[in-house]
Amino acid sequence: MEMRELVNLLNKYAREYYDNDAPTVSDAEYDRLYDELLRLEKETGIVLSDSPTRRVGGAVKAKFQKHKHLKRLYSLDKCRTHEELYAWFERLTKLIGRKPDFTVENKYDGLTVSLTYKNGKLDIATTRGDGVTGEVITEQVRTVKSVPTVIEYKGTVEAQGEAIMLLSSLAEYNATHDEQLKNARNAAAGAIRNLDAKETAERKLEIIFYNIGYSDREFSSQKEMHDFLKEYGFNVGEYFAQADDIGEVVNQINKIESKRESLDYLIDGAVIKLNSVADRERAGFTEKFPRWAMAYKFKAEEMTTELKDVVWQVSRTGKLNPLAVLEPVDIGGVTVKRATLNNYKEILRKGIKIGSRVFVRRSNDVIPEITGVAEYTAESRDVPKPTKCPVCNSDLIYDDTFIYCSNKKNCSSQIVSKLEHFCSKDALDIEGISEKTAEQMYLELGVDSPLDLYKLTVDDLKDLDGFKDKKINNTIEAVNKSKKTELSRFIYALGINGVGKKAAKSLAERFKTIDAIKNATFGEIAELADFGDITADNVVEYFKNEDNLRLVDGLLAVGIEFVESEKREGVFSGRVVVLTGSLEHFKRSKAAELIELNGGTVADNINKSVNLVVCGKDAGSKLEKAQKSNIEIIDEEKFIEMLNMSE
Ligand code: NAD
Repeated sequence: MEMRELVNLLNKYAREYYDNDAPTVSDAEYDRLYDELLRLEKETGIVLSDSPTRRVGGAVKAKFQKHKHLKRLYSLDKCRTHEELYAWFERLTKLIGRKPDFTVENKYDGLTVSLTYKNGKLDIATTRGDGVTGEVITEQVRTVKSVPTVIEYKGTVEAQGEAIMLLSSLAEYNATHDEQLKNARNAAAGAIRNLDAKETAERKLEIIFYNIGYSDREFSSQKEMHDFLKEYGFNVGEYFAQADDIGEVVNQINKIESKRESLDYLIDGAVIKLNSVADRERAGFTEKFPRWAMAYKFKAEEMTTELKDVVWQVSRTGKLNPLAVLEPVDIGGVTVKRATLNNYKEILRKGIKIGSRVFVRRSNDVIPEITGVAEYTAESRDVPKPTKCPVCNSDLIYDDTFIYCSNKKNCSSQIVSKLEHFCSKDALDIEGISEKTAEQMYLELGVDSPLDLYKLTVDDLKDLDGFKDKKINNTIEAVNKSKKTELSRFIYALGINGVGKKAAKSLAERFKTIDAIKNATFGEIAELADFGDITADNVVEYFKNEDNLRLVDGLLAVGIEFVESEKREGVFSGRVVVLTGSLEHFKRSKAAELIELNGGTVADNINKSVNLVVCGKDAGSKLEKAQKSNIEIIDEEKFIEMLNMSE
């Protein structure tokens, strides 16, 4: 692309992003074009007067009052690799004439705000605007509950921070409003720059403070500013580290990145700053950013791409799940071709149309998701609402949110998914029976129930495509081996709606035998960990159904028997544990695994059976509940101590 074209396009994107808080491309796509422009400018030595590389942020909206910042606000220089980071380190060392020491912080992804306090009171709050002049947003900022309106410091300070929307607040908002917010960054920016402060309040924003711009008091380091903000009651976020060499900076960046997925807010990188203010003065600024700070950007989690089609898959329970077929797109190094859309209602609420360009978000453990429409095109058309089951052509049942196939007995997709689930690793663990094999067995041998698996003979399997002697023997052996199983696996394998691995374990531990589970009452089940009323009801109903009872009895008759689970004894024996808050040294899933390995049971929520809570940083309502219920609470240090005791 020509330089002029590139500048025009970037300026259009910047207007949509900064001025309207409604981008039509992802940050990664914008950044790629921006880097391309930087390269062209360097190569030619030409920088057009309206180039985004010489400008901070966007225009100040006419509808807002304007305010000139006491001190200019800047953008941040960015890098993506360790090489670039080391090169910056070299440059800095030369500039300041000594080995630098740094601070490392989260790079919060929201909207920059600057709050001026005078005589101990919040005087004015503004956006960054173009860095010199910002938009007055004092009323909007007053709706943020954690922002102090009165502080004990009586001088003048400009405290800078990032207005963000918590991901949990975003999810809650989207679940309770027709208007759907695509992403937490734009939701926060849009809310702050809304003239109606009542609307801002609805979004329950947070502001995290990380800098003092102007002040009538001298600060000698970033650490001092951080401590000042903390001391006077500002929310300074969860992460602030000091690092006196670049190796330590890299360690801290890695630490931040490893926690990214577990945070309740968006971060798009880490910010590394020179700690010493005197060193900063030596390093200085460019037109756009300080030379003494660097944003280390993480892999992108969001891109835009074309939605080519929506297909409907029929699950084990007969629910029709919409699956988005995408023009393949690279998100953080992974090619994404499919994404979930949850349900038809959500398709309507998000205004999703086939042929549009959509935002797709993918973060580590999560299935890629379409978060909203980036742009409609001339080809955009509505997603047709299914009228018949796409697999068996039966009538459909519609409830408020979901669509189900009415054919509970002969819909091949449901039958095959049930078989596959029964054989899966966490269920009866019958090796070699994948979805494809289950489908083959169903279509070619008429295997339509787990019971049929136990009747398969060598002769039957001989006819199946791809089945030679070895595979036949292995399959028969795996089926036989599965007859000795644990009760919890068996319950999970039945595929009762809502009964996952953990719930199946709770049932097995509480009732001990299949007969006792069959006869358990709603009340007895509902009080177990991992059970709500609906799932408890599903269990009771499941064991009232004649077909289900025939299946369970049939499986017992072919020789399925239960062996004791390999539950280990350990320091958590007899403990039902809830994990809450963020743990510094473990991912949640790892901590849960360790508890179970050491004899304990992990529950998601506080209930009557819970007798221990492991509490990390920033725990919320679960901690409060545990305190009220007088449940023993330990911190991460104590948790590690207990684990060490067991070794
Ligand atoms: P930036 O947002 O990448 O970095 C600067 C900002 O980081 C600061 O203003 C500050 O608000 C924030 N920040 C968060 N945590 C911080 C911390 N701990 N310390 C200091 N600052 C912290 O840069 P920018 O110039 O504001 O915006 C450029 C970026 O905006 C681009 O890289 C692009 O990703 C995005 N953008 C996207 C589009 C689009 O169409 N999608 C358009 C324009 C810009």
